[in-house]
Amino acid sequence: MLQKTAQCALEYGRQFIPQGAVADYIPELGKADPNQLGLCLFTKDGQKIMCGDVDQRFTIQSICKVISLATALQCEGFDKVFAKVMMEPSGDAFNSILKLDLASNRPYNPMINAGAIEVVSMLTPRFTFEQLLEYARILCMDDDIVLDEAVYHSEKATGDRNRAIAYLLKSKGVLEGDELKTVDLYFRMCSLSVNARSLAGLGLTIANGGVDPNNGVRLLDERVVRVVKTLMLTCGMYDGSGEFAVRVGIPAKSGVGGGIMGCVENRMGIGTYGPALDEKGNSIGGRQMLEYLSRELHLHIFDSLNA
Ligand code: GLU
Repeated sequence: MLQKTAQCALEYGRQFIPQGAVADYIPELGKADPNQLGLCLFTKDGQKIMCGDVDQRFTIQSICKVISLATALQCEGFDKVFAKVMMEPSGDAFNSILKLDLASNRPYNPMINAGAIEVVSMLTPRFTFEQLLEYARILCMDDDIVLDEAVYHSEKATGDRNRAIAYLLKSKGVLEGDELKTVDLYFRMCSLSVNARSLAGLGLTIANGGVDPNNGVRLLDERVVRVVKTLMLTCGMYDGSGEFAVRVGIPAKSGVGGGIMGCVENRMGIGTYGPALDEKGNSIGGRQMLEYLSRELHLHIFDSLNA
């Protein structure tokens, strides 16, 4: 039944692909095949539903912001993190510098680049990339995640805007430590190679309150997960977050590599892959598949039929 609905969601989402385009501002991302589409659901009761291109590896990009935020909250605590970054939707593009320069010293939220770079600056003195990679593997239930060297070097070579954000944060006294080391760690985290299955695994860990349902091990504190899910709902889909919350109502985070990770409270994690993006930077096929699933399975957070 779930398999059939997922298959229908895939066919539905496929129709929208021609309206999107692959991101190419990081040159290596431009090589993705826009026609690929994959959908994976991991349910709390152990079902693993997969359709389409679920094995295709791509880079996690902005979805790593969820992992960095969870890690920072876990080790620095709520007050320290939110002394440096706010919790408000910005309504601007993910890489915007405008409000940071004009309206506030603190980035608006941890899901935009400025906020994520600030959050990563808190991790830089404490963790090596290898430690964070290992943590990502555990949270995503995927031991095969590695650094995609080609995308990492491509982003590093062209990432002047992110370096500019880091320097601006430094000039305002919000970012401590070495700004270039921080941006380097941020680029590496964005370049983790995942697939739709890894994102479903991460979604399930979060949907299950931070506990791995396979073995009952607590990976994240419940209060950390609550903050992360709230920010995914309000800020996770770039400046399309409001409309996505109304139409789909699943806390989710997207990345310009074409992935979307969603979590349905207490029920399932969802991973989608489709590198053709809409004008806001969200996977167009992924977004439409999630809307279809939300409608058919009553997954909206405020759906009264939500089990
Ligand atoms: N590495 C990308 C950047 O910083 C992430 C963007 C994204 O996925 O939103 O530009």
